Amino acid sequence: MQERIRNFSIIAHVDHGKSTLADRILQMTKAVSDREMREQFLDSLELERERGITIKASAVRLFYQSKAGETYIFNLIDTPGHVDFGYEVSRALAAVEGVLLVVDASQGVEAQTIANFYLAMEHEHTIIPVINKIDLPGAQPLEVALEVEEVLGIPADECIFASGKTGQGVDEILEAIVARIPAPKGHPEHPLQALIFDSIFDAYQGVIPYVRVMDGSIQPGDRIRIWSTGKVFEVDKVGVFRPGALEPVARLGPGEVGWITAAIREIGDAQVGDTITLAQNPCDAPYPGFQPAKPVVFAGLYPTDTQDYNRLREALEKLKLNDAALSFEPETSEALGFGFRCGFLGLLHAEIVQERLEREFDLDLISTAPSVIYRVKLTNGEEIEIHNPSELPNPDKIEAIYEPYVKLTVYTPEEYVGSIMQLLQEKRGKMGNMHYVGKRVEMVYEVPFGEILYDFHDRLKSLSRGYASMDYEQAGYQEGELVKVSILVNEEPVDALAFIAHKDKAYGIGREIVDKLAEVIPRQQFAVPIQAAIGGKIIARATVKALRKDVLAKCYGGDITRKKKLLEKQKEGKKRMKAIGKVDVPQEAFLAVLSAG
Ligand code: GDP
Ligand code: MG
Repeated sequence: MQERIRNFSIIAHVDHGKSTLADRILQMTKAVSDREMREQFLDSLELERERGITIKASAVRLFYQSKAGETYIFNLIDTPGHVDFGYEVSRALAAVEGVLLVVDASQGVEAQTIANFYLAMEHEHTIIPVINKIDLPGAQPLEVALEVEEVLGIPADECIFASGKTGQGVDEILEAIVARIPAPKGHPEHPLQALIFDSIFDAYQGVIPYVRVMDGSIQPGDRIRIWSTGKVFEVDKVGVFRPGALEPVARLGPGEVGWITAAIREIGDAQVGDTITLAQNPCDAPYPGFQPAKPVVFAGLYPTDTQDYNRLREALEKLKLNDAALSFEPETSEALGFGFRCGFLGLLHAEIVQERLEREFDLDLISTAPSVIYRVKLTNGEEIEIHNPSELPNPDKIEAIYEPYVKLTVYTPEEYVGSIMQLLQEKRGKMGNMHYVGKRVEMVYEVPFGEILYDFHDRLKSLSRGYASMDYEQAGYQEGELVKVSILVNEEPVDALAFIAHKDKAYGIGREIVDKLAEVIPRQQFAVPIQAAIGGKIIARATVKALRKDVLAKCYGGDITRKKKLLEKQKEGKKRMKAIGKVDVPQEAFLAVLSAG
């Protein structure tokens, strides 16, 4: 049976059509009837559907009858395409033998096409290049196939031309999966070695690890051991992924992809990347090569209602199980009370976590502006890490501040090179090298991570009319001339609004932020001064003018529904406010720094 298994993933630059192609594959293997089919079937999180992006890698088992008349088991693992979620891609790739590398026929090779290609190469996977969206009027399939050859070194004649939308070429893809991707190796007689590549939490069954069996087999009643913790559990059920359902089976053998229930209650006992083996007959070593995800961006999350603190903690614990990259620890803010400092893979990840907490756990949250991790050498010789700008010690205690850099790769048509260089200069980027790759230019820069965190991607896209794409990886720390800017509302410094910036930019950003705050903080009964300061020195100032009349006064005796609406609107606004001293500050204010600089 093992020789009839094919495990594969679909990888691509974002929006090149992975999820749509996965839909067609599901449909053509009759895994989902036409009636059940909805768009982006594998994107089961509500949020994924709304945003049209894939966040979690999902697995599904399909049956494919080949043209030669043999039935194969396909395990398809869908992967996310956004740069924040590279970790999910790499762990999905550890569970498969081959990939479909999807390239949009109207866009060509882009930054993440290349990054994902290298990930697949590292795993020594079979790569099937798919030139997708050939139905588009602007499609240039042949040119793109040649670009794939030139840039990635994959012979153009290996490319399959397809459209996830019309289904054209998908039968050829299915045959290529059978013909080109090898069956999984692994010995049924060897001791169990199973890799946890994902997991979910179920209120009744506890932690459900998703596994790829490398060697041996696993069945109900087995006593399993989790490699890193050494804890032993008895397997209750094992099963496979069917579209929209977890289907129990008798056992999982080598090369199979499935799930396990074993009354695992502790979230820490089934971490993604860990290995499961048998308690009595363990394997020699864990499955190698897993890179644990490291958060690189930190922000504070606080419940708007302080009574929700414990619910927030429980929600974070549950979410973490499903999202290994998330980290959190308790934090107190003078302004916001009790909350958590959370670590994320990037801004999109931070946004998604907040949205999932609010929707899936019914919480109302205030988040502070995300910040990178700074390293600080103190005059007493000690070195500390700063996850929260307000914790930066006074300048007289600091010998040097180091900020994280990324190696940024931008991939663009030639005509935008000039304006992109300008943007990168503004972002304090240092040019590494620049060369032609096919018809495009690859620009490699070292840039402070903090500088590209907020609006860089949007600006890159807009100045290149959508044509430039980017990818980045962390590239160590460099010393920077950085200062902490404090923000004072009504003469009180607000810890949650403090930020760290380069000294040449601090004034400009401080100015923009106080203006923005004066705009978003609602008028109070009294005038409220807003100030930005470095050390004791005020560098910018603005004022929220005092309220002149009661908002309700003008509709007194008038239209009752209008009055009701106004009150409701105020209530709505309240939810997302935090009282700082005597001033109500809305959520937007805490993110003002995102739109400055
Ligand atoms: P992903 O980010 O790689 O998962 O991409 P999606 O599958 O979500 O597709 C991105 C966008 O491209 C969506 O608007 C799809 O409807 C569209 N799309 C995907 N495949 C095709 C295709 O073959 N032809 C056309 N014309 N549009 C497609
Ligand atoms: Mg998708």
